[in-house]
Amino acid sequence: MDIRIFIISSGNYSSRIINNMAQMGFAENIVGIHEVDENLPEFIDNIEEYIPENLPEADLILSIGLYGDINMIIPHVAEKTNAKSIITPIYDPKQIPLGLQKEIESEINDKTIIFPKPFCTLKPVGDKYIDAFAEVFGEPELEIESDKLIRKIKVKRGAPCGSTWFVAEKLENTPVDGAELESGMRYHNYPCLASMGNDNQIGDTLMHIAGYKIKEAVKKELGFAAKSAVVNEKRCEGGDNCNYICRDVCPTFKIGDNTIIIKENHKVKINPKTCGYCEICVQKCPFEAIKIEDNVKLE
Ligand code: SF4
Ligand code: SF4
Repeated sequence: MDIRIFIISSGNYSSRIINNMAQMGFAENIVGIHEVDENLPEFIDNIEEYIPENLPEADLILSIGLYGDINMIIPHVAEKTNAKSIITPIYDPKQIPLGLQKEIESEINDKTIIFPKPFCTLKPVGDKYIDAFAEVFGEPELEIESDKLIRKIKVKRGAPCGSTWFVAEKLENTPVDGAELESGMRYHNYPCLASMGNDNQIGDTLMHIAGYKIKEAVKKELGFAAKSAVVNEKRCEGGDNCNYICRDVCPTFKIGDNTIIIKENHKVKINPKTCGYCEICVQKCPFEAIKIEDNVKLE
């Protein structure tokens, strides 16, 4: 990764990510770190007082763990460092409300800013510097060699907090049949610092979303889902009969995964690769057309 990264950092969540970047050999890419006190008030009257001086030139800003109005220093730091790209991961639903995101965006001129929620949903977005970072860090991607056991597992892209490398190490020699569920348990041992509070936009917690992502990486490699929601076509009515409420409530659909697909016959099918078997759609479908099944093959 040949980019210069400047980090605005606050709290434990950020420290863990910086440590992991260093452990993965990217310390030299970090041209500076500006620490922000994690006990600042949520609402700040005069942001000018908090803008750091004497900043180095950088390509990419990572702004991690800042809570509330202090995030308004981001456009100023980007301007002063001449950075072209900014990643502002969200680990807590209340951390940067949509209104504040829009305000930050309105002050970013010719730069790209994204707000992955949580950080381990980051994928390439077509921006040179963000994509260089996302080659190594972001939504987990694995390469697995297996027979009945997981024999070898390589992390192609890992959650910035380091959890993917931790899980991958623990999965070696695990039976393939139980590997997906094991990955979810191992991930919870790490433990993830994403919030357990419900995110109203997504309808689930960010910690659960992170858990779905590591399991998705395992499923993709093994070719089957240990569990998935499955639609009974005979019961599914689709269209105006239910207004596709299953899609409206599906957390993985809301974060941009194509988990619930409307077919030509207006009924739906569920993609087991991205289904986190949260069962929300099972409870909401007015025609009881969805149930959770075991060992579902990926298409
Ligand atoms: S599964 Fe249920 S909620 Fe979803 S489209 Fe079919 S009938 Fe509607
Ligand atoms: S169980 Fe239903 S709502 Fe939950 S992720 Fe799967 S398809 Fe979406």
